[in-house]
Amino acid sequence: MDRKKGNQEWLEELTEFERAILGIGEETYYNYRCPQCGYEQEVPDFVVDEFAAYDELPPGVMPELECGNCGGTLKCVD
Ligand SMILES: [Zn+2]
Repeated sequence: MDRKKGNQEWLEELTEFERAILGIGEETYYNYRCPQCGYEQEVPDFVVDEFAAYDELPPGVMPELECGNCGGTLKCVD
């Protein structure tokens, strides 16, 4: 009964796998900035993706990260 869902999951895994292969050597970085202290950090896209997945954010919504300088909230400024 869950065959359709299973197939979809398999396709999503394959897509991620393919992306991993194609992404070798061309990492994308997002610029994050802390509005409280002005601290700036470049965050690799796979880290951003991981946080977005963890927070269950819809596609296109950037996750907020913790500022390594003051403990505030880093926001994407791209
Ligand atoms: Zn800060």
